[in-house]
Amino acid sequence: MCGIVGYIGDKDAFPILIKGLHRLEYRGYDSAGVALLNNKGELHIFKTKGKVNNLEKYCSDKDVSGNIGIAHTRWATHGEPSDINAHPHYSQSKDIALIHNGIIENYLSLKQFLKDKGYIFKSETDTEVLVQLIEYVKKEHKLSLYDAVQRALSQVIGAYAIGVIERQNPNVLIAARKGSPLIIGVGEGEYFLGSDASPIIEYTNKVVYVGDEEVVRMEKDREMEIRNLSDSVIVPEITELQMDLSEIEKGGYPHFMLKEIFEQPRALSLCMNGRVHEELKEIKLSGIIDHIDRFRNARRILISACGTSWHAGLIGKYLFEQFCRIPVEVEVASEFRYRNPVIFPNDVMIAISQSGETADTLAAIELAKSKGAFIYGVCNVVGSSIARATDTGTYTHAGPEIGVASTKAFTTQVAVLAMMVFAIGRELGTVKQDEYEKLVTELAFIKNKIEEILALKDSIESMSKVFTYAKNFIYLGRGFNYPVAMEGALKLKEISYIHAEGYPAAEMKHGPIALIDEEMPIVVIAPKFAMYDKILSNVQEVKARNGRIISIVTKGDTQIKALSDFVIEIPETIECLSPLLTIIPLQMLSYYVAVAKGRNVDQPRNLAKSVTVE
Ligand code: GLU
Repeated sequence: MCGIVGYIGDKDAFPILIKGLHRLEYRGYDSAGVALLNNKGELHIFKTKGKVNNLEKYCSDKDVSGNIGIAHTRWATHGEPSDINAHPHYSQSKDIALIHNGIIENYLSLKQFLKDKGYIFKSETDTEVLVQLIEYVKKEHKLSLYDAVQRALSQVIGAYAIGVIERQNPNVLIAARKGSPLIIGVGEGEYFLGSDASPIIEYTNKVVYVGDEEVVRMEKDREMEIRNLSDSVIVPEITELQMDLSEIEKGGYPHFMLKEIFEQPRALSLCMNGRVHEELKEIKLSGIIDHIDRFRNARRILISACGTSWHAGLIGKYLFEQFCRIPVEVEVASEFRYRNPVIFPNDVMIAISQSGETADTLAAIELAKSKGAFIYGVCNVVGSSIARATDTGTYTHAGPEIGVASTKAFTTQVAVLAMMVFAIGRELGTVKQDEYEKLVTELAFIKNKIEEILALKDSIESMSKVFTYAKNFIYLGRGFNYPVAMEGALKLKEISYIHAEGYPAAEMKHGPIALIDEEMPIVVIAPKFAMYDKILSNVQEVKARNGRIISIVTKGDTQIKALSDFVIEIPETIECLSPLLTIIPLQMLSYYVAVAKGRNVDQPRNLAKSVTVE
């Protein structure tokens, strides 16, 4: 949701800002803009509807000089994507410019208040209210920009990460955050601002994660200052980023999504590195070792997540219940947080989020925390809000995921949940030593089996081209592969815009079977496990109604193969780990269908990567 970038220093700000916007474009891409303060004392804003490329074209004949600036790529919440609603926004006098990621919930009452004071609004955004309020407070109380931002924000309800500059103050950049992510890069006498580290990493690896309700003042060649809304001085904590520039570039792939699909064996290696000890046949997770009693005494586990992470959470439920015998409830965070759920102090909540910034998941954590539950985070982004809000956790270490449709985040989340479950199960005694060793070994080598599936690229690509005609797809799976069916359907929806539903295979008879005709593609996830015969019957039912069957089967399968129009074979594995294999061809199928349909795979319409608004 929205990417924000800022720069103050000796360099030309514009190229830094544009490059940063390109890196953040996965977060929002309906419009983009930049504000620059030049050495003639002018404050210019250039903004347009559309992608960052449009902005670059639009600026090609403009004066984009200046060593201080802020920039934004938008994912609209208030007001359609348009030139006027794009950020940055000017204040009434055009002396102040502001970019914002988030939602100002009380913007209507603030807007009315400011209108009554004579302020005129140009856009439909909630953001414009902020910049006008800052100007009003500044003038009314004769404050510096830093003080005015702090004072204005104390009247605001909602979420924000903002960057603010002022014409009369060409050496100062102000930033603040609550809820939405914000990172400051600390260079030599210069500062960078970013929604994540990607616009910063090539200039410096020293960063400060801005805390909630903190306001930061950056001035060239001076130490930064931080205060919170209650006026306490905060000492900036500089952290060193462990990120490599190549991780955020496409590296020869046509899309980030394809790169990330193919990165999965490596992502799983990184995820298990130092945790799965193949030679010792052991799993060591510090979050579990240090807090095993919380799991031992857990009355139940609550898993809270959204989207793809929710699907990983559903697999987590099957894993925990089978191997640890602890009851698990999995719920999408947006429902959980608003339904007055029953939470016991001896509950353990596992919160899963790739970005670690998902607004609803963060709110679910706060709710569970307030009732005394123990919170375990599973996030990819180090230092993210969820990582900081939880009691402990395990990073997935998948590396930056930039494609909007999540792939390697999902497989690494499932791997983390499997590691947790096997480690806890052994501690509780619900997993016996020989079984434990088998599970650990299979998990350690599963990446090689993923490589085998990735090698089927060409045949999956040509099969995918057949299905561009389809308006609907059904995905069927059972047990551990029922959540995979939902995840496969979600992938297809997200990037090809074909309607798809994931269903428990047996449930098909209770409704979706009515949709089946000779045009309808049905993806059946049917590796050879205990329920094979049951799913075989489900395939027969589809066949009897002339549906077009694409099946995911275990190598050597003959029965389901004989009934299928297209077959993808996967290597043998243990049932509970099969989602790590079965999801791979489904990701590839969605990718190649979307490419064949000419869709923008990395930036599908209406979506944004990390959902920092509720
Ligand atoms: N609420 C702001 C707008 O609509 C920012 C949106 C966002 O952060 O996604 O312009």
